[in-house]
Amino acid sequence: MAKAKIAVNGYGTIGKRVADAVRAQDDMEIIGISKTKPNYEAAVAHRLGYDIYAPAENVEAFEKAGMPAAGTIEEMLEKSDLVVDCTPGGIGEKNKPMYEKVGIKAIWQGGESHTISGFSFNAESNYEPAVGRDLARVVSCNTTALCRAISTIDRELGVNKVRASLARRAVDPNEIKKGPVDAIVLNPVKLPSHHGPDVRSVLPHINITTAAIKVPTTLMHVHTVNMEVNKDCTAEDIKKIFGSQSRIRLIGQGITSTAEIIEFARDIGRPRHDMWELCIWPESITVTEKELYFFHAVHQESIVVPENVDAIRAMMELESDGAKSIEKTNKAIGLYNK
Ligand code: NAD
Repeated sequence: MAKAKIAVNGYGTIGKRVADAVRAQDDMEIIGISKTKPNYEAAVAHRLGYDIYAPAENVEAFEKAGMPAAGTIEEMLEKSDLVVDCTPGGIGEKNKPMYEKVGIKAIWQGGESHTISGFSFNAESNYEPAVGRDLARVVSCNTTALCRAISTIDRELGVNKVRASLARRAVDPNEIKKGPVDAIVLNPVKLPSHHGPDVRSVLPHINITTAAIKVPTTLMHVHTVNMEVNKDCTAEDIKKIFGSQSRIRLIGQGITSTAEIIEFARDIGRPRHDMWELCIWPESITVTEKELYFFHAVHQESIVVPENVDAIRAMMELESDGAKSIEKTNKAIGLYNK
């Protein structure tokens, strides 16, 4: 079967990782990535052998910088079957008419609203309805984390209610324009936060409310999750259920912080110290009368990356079974956590 031809529009934190993850698969290929300016990230893309496409007015600047562009962004789209839009939140909406004009399938990220595609995706929660779709949005890092944990427990025990408190990293490691930071910011002051409704864009039957604060770190988010389930269970049952999921990692061996998780990711040789799995502390799992509590940590830069690959596979009809796609994606990028 011919490989699906994929364009990545926006080569920043998420785009560069999605491009590498797509390139690792045997059923899809990268036609090109887009950069607006010939900066250091463009130089790395050039070194990695990606064809770089640029806005028409900037093509000459790439030539002058010694990394000639392969063409314009529109030309990249014309050669591709599907575009993964990884531009900053709000820009993706502006790009939509360009994708419609070319008639290309499109995936957006969590910075756009649900209405951009009318379908919000999480591989563990709703892979099958994505099969053959033209448009989808891969939900944000926080929503991906919550969906993974909730849909796992919902399948086994039924989830009646979820209450979650989110401590969000302030900025990504390279975002110097937004730092340095020294504050804990209510995000937002008015409760609840937008994360609960966002989870419901994937899992509409879940009763969920969330609150969020931003803390001065760049590494990960941490959530305190409280779930009311429908069946009696023990903490051991929950550990077994979470432990059986390939994209959930039970974090132990003395790790009590996000810093140590990232160090662990470095030590096991993960690219860019990425932790694609949702990290749950098994020692935090507590069950009292069908109420379950635990902490989990979310590597914001990478958790959505395998989800984008699965969304491509579903939309391009390369695999109709979500579990098989998840396994294939994991294997190709090197996600073996057991
Ligand atoms: P980013 O700023 O790191 O990268 C965006 C890239 O798009 C930059 O390279 C920028 O130059 C480029 N760009 C800007 N305008 C463009 C245009 N018109 N055409 C082509 N390229 C353009 O942003 P990011 O963190 O990768 O976020 C991308 C999307 O992913 C957003 O929707 C965001 O909400 C979502 N997301 C981000 C994170 C995270 O933690 N960083 C996690 C999950 C989802």
